[in-house]
Amino acid sequence: MEIDELVIYDCPVCEGAALLEEEGNSYYVTCMECGCHSVNVNFKSEDQRLDAAKRTVDLWNRGKVIKMEPGE
Ligand SMILES: [Zn+2]
Repeated sequence: MEIDELVIYDCPVCEGAALLEEEGNSYYVTCMECGCHSVNVNFKSEDQRLDAAKRTVDLWNRGKVIKMEPGE
């Protein structure tokens, strides 16, 4: 399985399209509509890269998202 094969559900808050983002040595999922996001999952090596992406996508898909606070 490749990272781009992961199924990412629509945003559980606003049903907007969600995107997997890479930031440094971590991945997170963010909503392009309302800006809420999953937690960052770090990886330390290429071996852990796919696992980290899977974990953050899984959290997102189960509705474990952090909502943007006003003014943030
Ligand atoms: Zn959203």
